[in-house]
Parts: sequence; C-alpha cells; structure tokens
Amino acid sequence: MEDNTTNNDELVNKPDNLDNNDDPNEYEDVCFLCHRPESQTGKMLTIPQNTKICLDCMQKTLDSMNNASNIEDMLKMSDLNFNGMPGIHFMNMSDLGQVPDKQKIKKRKEPLPKINLKDIPVPHIIKARLDEYVIGQDYAKKVMSVAVYNHYKRVATSTQDSIEIQKSNMLMIGPTGSGKTYLVQTLAKLLDVPLAITDATSLTEAGYIGDDIESVVSKLLAAADNDVEKAERGIIFIDEIDKIAKKKEVRSRDVSGESVQQGLLKILEGSKVEVPVGAGSKNAMVPLATVDTKNILFICGGAFPDLEDIIKARLNKRSSLGFEADLKDKYDKDPKLLSKVNLEDLREYGMIPEFLGRLPVVFTLEALTKEMLIKILKEPKNAILKQYQKLLELDEVKLDFADDAYEAIAERALEKETGARGLRSIIEEFMLDIMYEIPRDNNIGSVTVTRALIENTGGPVIGLRG
Ligand code: ADP
Repeated sequence: MEDNTTNNDELVNKPDNLDNNDDPNEYEDVCFLCHRPESQTGKMLTIPQNTKICLDCMQKTLDSMNNASNIEDMLKMSDLNFNGMPGIHFMNMSDLGQVPDKQKIKKRKEPLPKINLKDIPVPHIIKARLDEYVIGQDYAKKVMSVAVYNHYKRVATSTQDSIEIQKSNMLMIGPTGSGKTYLVQTLAKLLDVPLAITDATSLTEAGYIGDDIESVVSKLLAAADNDVEKAERGIIFIDEIDKIAKKKEVRSRDVSGESVQQGLLKILEGSKVEVPVGAGSKNAMVPLATVDTKNILFICGGAFPDLEDIIKARLNKRSSLGFEADLKDKYDKDPKLLSKVNLEDLREYGMIPEFLGRLPVVFTLEALTKEMLIKILKEPKNAILKQYQKLLELDEVKLDFADDAYEAIAERALEKETGARGLRSIIEEFMLDIMYEIPRDNNIGSVTVTRALIENTGGPVIGLRG
C-alpha cells in the first residue's frame, strides 16, 4: 500500500519490459535548431562540439546567409557558432551543453508489435486482478474493466474496420482516499502499459506560468522511457479534474479553469501533438516529439466537493413537483447520492459540455466505510500491516493485531476524513515505538497491538520466547 504523499513525478509506471540501458546509440539525435528528432528530420550534419543540425535547418541558414546583403546582416542573423564560417557571431556551445539523453527520443529498431485481440485480458479477469489489491468499489472496477477492454479492442482493430469505436476515456468521481489513483495504478501495472499521473491544478493555458497542456503527454513519454510508440498505448491519469471547473463569476479572466478544459479537448479526442521531451513546457532548448494521442487512454478523476448539493437540488426540484413534495430532506442522508450524478449536474458544476463529451465513461466511487477500511488493513496482497509483520518476522518476532485494534485504527482514519490515506500515518505512529523497542530485548517473541495502544491508553501485549 502506498500513501499518496509521493511526488507525482515518481508515480509514473514503467513497464517491466522497458530496458533502462543508457547506451547513447539508443536515442535519436535532435536538431539543435528546430529540436525535431532524427526520425522526423532525416539525416543530420555534425558540426563542432558534436552538435547536430538537420539538412532543412542548414539549408535555411545558408539561404538566409546568401540573402544577407552585407556582413552586418549576417551578424544579426545567427547566434550560432559555426566554427570556421566567416561573419557569424560566436557563442560558446559548450556552455549550452549537449541535449541530455532524457530529452531525446528512444530509437526503435522495429515497430512495436500490433496488439493482438487474444492478448487483451477479458473484463472479468481484469476485475479479478483489481480485486486482489483494491477493496470494495465493485461498480467502479466493473466499469473500468469493461472500458479498458473496449479501449484496447478499439486499438487492436482501428485500422481494419470502417466502424470506428468511440474512445473510452473515463471520468471517475469519488471522495479523497477512496482509491481513484490506486485503481489506475493497479490497472496500468496489470496491463503492463506506461502510466503518467498529473494534477489538473498545475496545468495552464500556454503562455501562463505553470505546465502547458502538452506536459501531460510529456510525462507519459518519460514514463515510456521516451519511446513514442509505447507512450502512444499508455494511460494518462489527470487528477483533481474538478479544480478546472468553470468559475461561477463570469467576469474574471479564467486562466486555470475553462481554458484548460478547452485546451485538453484536442488531446483527449486524439490528435498529433508536439510535446517537449523531458520537460514540462516548450522552451528554446527542449527537443520536441510528435505523439499521437489517438490510442492513449485518458482517465480523469476528482473528488468534486459540493457536487452532492447540486444532485440533491436537482432531485428535490423534481420531487417537489410530484407526490413526494413532502419528503424534501429524503436525499440528505442518502449514502448513494453521488452515484445518482448525471451530465447535467456536472455541467452545473462547471465542466464544459465538450469536455464531458470526450469522457463518455462516467462512474463514481463510494466513500470508504469502517468495514472497508478494516479490510484494507487486512486483505490486499500488499496490505500495510502484512508488510510490518514481514519486517518483524526478520527479527523472529510475531506481530499480531487484536480485532478491536483494527477497529480503532479504522475509526481514527474515519475521523480524519481522508479515506484510506489516513491509515498509513496512524499505523506509522504506533509502529515506530514497536520497531524501536523490540530489537532491544532478545527475549521478546511476540507483540500484539491492542485498541489501548492505538488510543494511547495502554501498551501492546508482549509475549516472551520459549
Ligand atoms: P484518491 O481517491 O484520493 O486518488 P488514492 O488512490 O490515492 O486515493 O488512495 C490512497 C492510498 O490508500 C492508496 O495508495 C492505497 O494504498 C489506499 N487505498 C485507497 N483506497 C483503497 C481501496 N479501495 N483498497 C485498497 N487500498 C486503498
């Protein structure tokens, strides 16, 4: 289990079969002037300092030098140091440094094999694999399994058929810590495709401070080890999507909201975008790669706070017209209220119709209950408590948890209102003392964590060896 305090950049999933060999011959050269890779520019010339220039740019440079009527024009024309070429302003290229490998595109010796329909796991298999790690959220898992299956079917058949299957981009709505990111991470891992996780709040329209829209694709490219073809089959998860809802007051210039939604339309639907390699925004020194987003699966997620009020208002309005007019507060305590969301509510929330139109699969996740939190502690393959048990096993100490200890942990996590995210910090708090004290005494053979320990009113039950 993982707490989500990790930096987003580290949350990229690199498929196991990507080799991380840093052989320089594995990367494409990049033109120093236009920043396009060799696969787009064709052959390149090498000028001093091992700098590469494509033939197009070289030709353009020579043309403009011929057009310059005198030496002063030439001086103005270029900042480059073509050593040995007369009349060109000198600039020390070694100060600039060469383009680092992480900003170069990986060379492909042969195209990636086509996705075979038979290799795509069927929905119930995908769901069963998700079940091993993610507790509850059955509906979400089912919808995702079908959507992913359809998505890769679409990728597998896109060139053979005249009926084009619509993209299955998804919008997942659920409270903080209910497993949105975790579901996507697990999915990408089991499909063995690269995954990039970004935060919608960091995105801005080009020209403003923040990451350009294309940076989401750049991150995926980085997760695919700069292999364009692999990236083109990957998954992009955009978190906190509710933060780019259109603001209610129309007069203020809305930099981060509606315009970012507008900016995302093109890449969600599928288009060839030029993205900076190894950086968040385009600037003069960053090479560019062209990535087709047609087959990239986009999953947007958000907690959408206050969305329930909008749903309730709509439902109440409807019922006040009919027989149920007297039951105005009937939805107030409905735990399934969020799942009644429709597109009208999301529009009201501030998502623009064109944006919603490109996310045809909409589903909700439930807030985690005490019972689910207890299961999260006990059941998943890599449950956090199992990890601690393993650690202590290495000291030949048996770690146990009293039933009411599980309950106490879950209750404290519920109070924090951050879903399963709170579990880890609670556990770390009491495990610190145990991990510190146990190795002190060789006679200790077992430790049982109790409710009293969690509630700071007592200690663990210690059992001696033998
Ligand atoms: P969010 O919905 O805010 O994206 P996360 O997916 O980041 O929540 O959840 C935080 C952590 O809590 C995850 O890394 C995972 O370890 C744990 N977690 C959350 N929900 C579940 C769940 N349903 N089953 C198992 N673990 C979960």
